[in-house]
Amino acid sequence: MVEERLIGDDGLREDGRKPDQLRPIKIEAGVLHNADGSAYVEWGKNKVLAAVYGPREVHPKFLQDSTKAIVQVTYNMAAFSVDDRIRPGPNRRATEISKIIGEALEYVILTHHFPRSSVDVYIEVLEASAGTRCAGLTAASVAVADAGIPMTDLVVSCAAGKADGQIILDLGKSEDNLGEADVPLGYIPRTGEIVLLQMDGHLTKAEFEKAMNMAMNACKDIYEMQKDALRRRYAVGADEDKTPTQEVIE
Ligand code: UDP
Repeated sequence: MVEERLIGDDGLREDGRKPDQLRPIKIEAGVLHNADGSAYVEWGKNKVLAAVYGPREVHPKFLQDSTKAIVQVTYNMAAFSVDDRIRPGPNRRATEISKIIGEALEYVILTHHFPRSSVDVYIEVLEASAGTRCAGLTAASVAVADAGIPMTDLVVSCAAGKADGQIILDLGKSEDNLGEADVPLGYIPRTGEIVLLQMDGHLTKAEFEKAMNMAMNACKDIYEMQKDALRRRYAVGADEDKTPTQEVIE
């Protein structure tokens, strides 16, 4: 059996990227009329939509906290988002991703301003190709800001990992499946705080540090894209009734 190579002799990856290169990323804020805040992210072949409602009444009521708002995240992969149809409805993976994204967002949202309420965040993965939790958190963070919910900062997310013995940024589908490690990171570039960190696979301490630095640096670039999406959304003269996509179409 011939082993599949993920990095060629020229040092480039299957999709032509350098080890420390991100997939192309596009972020748009305010794409849904019926949500208080929303964002759409295309990240390589991932397509992810985030919608935010609130702060609003808590359902179910017993979850209410008299001291702060709760942040409830529902991450969902559409049945058609991958080649093999996914069974609709919650599963362990979706529950885990919802929880970690919720914790990351809760860290930046000024929840104590809104006691007894809920900030509800829905992340819908329309197309998936590795890194959907990073795209989801990055989109959700912009959507929360778009909803006008006070935050200390935006959270950015990106992964780094290892494939063919090399540390690489932002793993694609085959790198995620066949590589040696994947480390998704949630990061606040301004303060240097880490609000999400997971690791699938094995890395030495030196490799881990290299991967973290790569992901943190990339997060700084993605942070600029998030801010740019919000600036475009709220640019003077932007028509409130139009989504940025509609403006482009017209
Ligand atoms: N995936 C899939 N079916 C599933 C779950 C995941 O095909 O039920 C694919 C999908 O492309 C996803 C990738 O596997 O992006 C990696 O999934 P992982 O659990 O590592 O999360 P992600 O990298 O998307 O945050």
